[in-house]
Amino acid sequence: MSNENKSIYEFDFNLICEYYSNLERQGPGSPEATLKALGFIDNLTPQSHIADLGCGTGGQTMTLAQNTPGEITGLDLFPDFIKIFNRNAERDKLSNRVRGIVGSMDNLPFENESLDLIWSEGAIYNIGYERGLNEWKKFLKTGGYIAVSEVSWFTDERPQEINDFWMEHYSEIDTIPNKVAQMQKAGYIPTAIFILPETCWTDHFYAPQAKVQEEFLKKHAGNKSAENYVGFERYEMNLYYRYKEYYGYVFYIGKKR
Ligand code: SAM
Repeated sequence: MSNENKSIYEFDFNLICEYYSNLERQGPGSPEATLKALGFIDNLTPQSHIADLGCGTGGQTMTLAQNTPGEITGLDLFPDFIKIFNRNAERDKLSNRVRGIVGSMDNLPFENESLDLIWSEGAIYNIGYERGLNEWKKFLKTGGYIAVSEVSWFTDERPQEINDFWMEHYSEIDTIPNKVAQMQKAGYIPTAIFILPETCWTDHFYAPQAKVQEEFLKKHAGNKSAENYVGFERYEMNLYYRYKEYYGYVFYIGKKR
């Protein structure tokens, strides 16, 4: 099977975790984009409870914590990411109000109506955007906010190659107006949307991977799984550079009615 046809889910999770553990972010984003999204949220106090779902090692969580009052729970499926997350919280002297826990976004450990803000950068796709918006709503207080970044089409039409890639890997990708309509239908007032700048992919996501890939391949020399995985990442990056005018990440911010 060629790399191009391999889904990320077919790779060894331990290898993926090791690869991403060496990166500050596990998806496209930047401190500036996190802060811009946070600028639309106006309900936070020192008593607020925030959840960052699919937090990874917490790159964006620490930015959030440094710029918000209240407590933050980061939740991720992978224990290794959470170990690094909690180490980073300690490093940044935030562990008194920032805590990472292992869990799954389809079975959240929060009380109903207990959260003021649900944050999720580049991660809601794991259960699907619409399902996430619908299922997570009950954990928010009325007037609470959701802020998620999600891959989206910028145009109604696009070249076959990039259309096929996303249909295979995340068929819920859709246009911005359709994503906004889904948010409204799920019971939120769409408050703001913005497209993440290309640098969130190029400088913050892909550039740091070059060195990680080199070291990863050296460490796992001869390991076909590792080579295939790096091949997949490089293919995805190549697609981004060729087709970035057709898709990208969009921040969607909504307020629970
Ligand atoms: N939010 C981080 C960021 O922007 O750097 C990580 C984004 S990464 C693309 C997606 C994250 O979702 C990974 O950390 C992965 O472990 C996590 N994840 C995957 N499935 C999950 C699930 N069912 N529940 C919680 N986290 C999950």
